[in-house]
Amino acid sequence: MTYALDTQLNRTIFLTTMSRTQTHTLLGMDREELTALVSEADESGYRAKQIMDAVYRQRVESLAEISTLPQGFREELAASGVTVGAARIENKFVSQDGTLRYLIAFADGQSVETVWMPEGDGGEAGDGSEAGDEADSSLGISGTKAPSEKDEAVAALKRCATPKPSRSTICISSQVGCAVDCQFCLTALLGVKRNLTAGEIVGQVCAVLKDQKVSPPEDRINLVFMGMGEPFLNYENFMKASRLLVEAVGIAERRMTVSTAGIVPRIHDFGQETIRPKLAISLNASNDALRTRLMPLNKKWNLEMLITAAREFPLRTREWITFEYVLLGGVNDTPENAKEAAGLLRGLRCKVNLIALNPGPGIDFTTPAAERVTAFQNILREAGIPAFVRRPRGRDIYAACGQLKRTVAAATSPEPRLQSISPVAEG
Ligand code: SF4
Repeated sequence: MTYALDTQLNRTIFLTTMSRTQTHTLLGMDREELTALVSEADESGYRAKQIMDAVYRQRVESLAEISTLPQGFREELAASGVTVGAARIENKFVSQDGTLRYLIAFADGQSVETVWMPEGDGGEAGDGSEAGDEADSSLGISGTKAPSEKDEAVAALKRCATPKPSRSTICISSQVGCAVDCQFCLTALLGVKRNLTAGEIVGQVCAVLKDQKVSPPEDRINLVFMGMGEPFLNYENFMKASRLLVEAVGIAERRMTVSTAGIVPRIHDFGQETIRPKLAISLNASNDALRTRLMPLNKKWNLEMLITAAREFPLRTREWITFEYVLLGGVNDTPENAKEAAGLLRGLRCKVNLIALNPGPGIDFTTPAAERVTAFQNILREAGIPAFVRRPRGRDIYAACGQLKRTVAAATSPEPRLQSISPVAEG
């Protein structure tokens, strides 16, 4: 009788406490938080694992779907305002190259974009997510040695000869909009609306995995934090999401890459994390004057501070830093720029991804000619720096690098073909 009264009291306290709690979504809670939740409700500890499995592995969207929990407990959770907090796919746009741009909405009506890049045409190479792949290690990215044509041919042969499970990449957002104001980026035009919670960051991944009917680790999924926002300006939520993606969703750390515009203090913090994605740095200029013009945050953290942080970054075995360099026609793509960039990066265990500008309305730069891009790449390679040209994915649906702005009109270049799919209509 006493036990029954205690139990009833605990449940009453649980309901009262939960109704005052700000976070009511299961998505975003880690093992400790879920353990505390079930304990407060006077349920057994193993219920926490059941909730984790349901939310992160089965990717349920409602409490009613968590069939492993007793009906009464589900009702109590619902009565106390707890929801799963699943992200909702509001719309999706399909590119002629197979890339999908998702518009993903959250409870407060804000939305972000998340991009799915399927494997198949090699376009994923150089997306910054391929560390740990055997084919890439055969390219000699281990310091200052650039891959030769022979190395690449051998790697390509190996890729053909060895059957592998599919490899797709999800590009996720960390903020609604962005405050960094890179002059070549459409997202910057939005400004920043708010940070995403850890649950909203993980929720994008869960929504896309469910929609694509794939599941890590059985399916090899790469993840890049290169969508809307600067992850290091939403550091705690980004890191919590990263841990959940590894421990709960099942995506390997080595398949995740975060890109920063150069928030130097957070680069130092990031290097101390036990579980973390790989690091990519958005460089985009070869000297301070140019970088400050293109990326105003360079006034606060200049190239010397940035490159020092990169040199001090504690890399793991077979890990390297990726530098991204968006090439803008006639602005930062000259042979002198390439030589300067090579000088900055010399001796760093790094590679460079070269991205010819993806155009968009309101962006006052042009895409460089292909031969300028190749010339830039060759200068870096001759200086011993592995450099890759990243082919744009989904440019026709505004899904490519720097194009994420919740655009619903068709792109103008190249060959526009925008097909909007209503997820509701699709069923
Ligand atoms: S490039 Fe990245 S950091 Fe810069 S404005 Fe765009 S989203 Fe923000």
